[in-house]
Amino acid sequence: MAYDPTNIFARILRGEIPCHKVYEDDQTLAFMDVMPQSEGHTLVVPKTPAENVFDLPPEALAATIRTVQKVAQAVKKAFDPPGVMIAQLNGAAAGQSVFHLHFHVVPRHSGRELSLHAGRMADPQQLAAQAERIRAQLG
Ligand code: AMP
Repeated sequence: MAYDPTNIFARILRGEIPCHKVYEDDQTLAFMDVMPQSEGHTLVVPKTPAENVFDLPPEALAATIRTVQKVAQAVKKAFDPPGVMIAQLNGAAAGQSVFHLHFHVVPRHSGRELSLHAGRMADPQQLAAQAERIRAQLG
């Protein structure tokens, strides 16, 4: 399937729709998931257009993973969860719903179920406050 430049993350990258930004550099952007599966659920995307892990050049993928680690460290410091899940889905059959490559950084707590994947919109004020907490840990 050809990359669709009208997908929601491409529009966020172009600044056409807002996001709760956590981190940005020349190759990547990180922002809060608007339908979080747990408090602090953050997404990391490459700026290079790519639908999935198979389409992104390795150098851009390496830059994306560097940001994933940086953001995961900040999420861990900000929310102090005992576990942090990092997930990345390729294809509708794998559950991918936005077709611009992204990594999920999801705080996990023993015995606490995750909210439904892309289930319910969070309160924007709460998301803004969570983004602020993560940014504070990124310095
Ligand atoms: P996936 O199913 O792996 O493609 O995940 C897509 C994720 O994007 C889901 O967790 C959604 O909650 C999230 N999402 C959808 N629209 C937006 C948006 N406008 N801003 C931030 N996250 C979004």
